[in-house]
Amino acid sequence: MNHQPFEAWLLEDKVLNSAEKRDLNAHLRECKSCAALAETGPALRSARVVSPAPGFAMRFQNRLAAQKVTERRRRLWGLLALLFSGAGLFAWSIAPYALTFASNPIEWLITAASYFLFLFSSLQAFGEFLSVLARMLPAFLPPYAWMVVLSAVLGMGLLWVVSIWRFARNPQGVTA
Ligand SMILES: [Zn+2]
Repeated sequence: MNHQPFEAWLLEDKVLNSAEKRDLNAHLRECKSCAALAETGPALRSARVVSPAPGFAMRFQNRLAAQKVTERRRRLWGLLALLFSGAGLFAWSIAPYALTFASNPIEWLITAASYFLFLFSSLQAFGEFLSVLARMLPAFLPPYAWMVVLSAVLGMGLLWVVSIWRFARNPQGVTA
């Protein structure tokens, strides 16, 4: 049986004139496979253009917005919790010093002064160490290597001073 041009018409979903429609119907009555094609064609087409239920996009957007708000709120609470715990931790860490200062300001000042004395003596010791190095090293090293070593020592010394300075500014774990 010759299925053309009816099969092509059905597959292309061709717009038919009345003569073509009559020929097609005549063929479909005789041909089971083209009849089946004519049956499934509209079903497939309708499946293709299934549209979401009305208001679907709106509901989806609303849900997305609600989710965003929830997430933002959660983040805000997290930030607040972090801030509060940080403030609490800070208060807890400085409380001993504040209490010591309130109960005995003079002792607190003495403690603070001892930190600065420690800082100065450390600097002095470091200076002596440097001068000893400066006296010793030139005898062993050529001038070029001596420059390299000196700059390295100066850099390390700077780091050391900075770390001591930070330690003196944030005294921790020392009983007054
Ligand atoms: Zn056919």
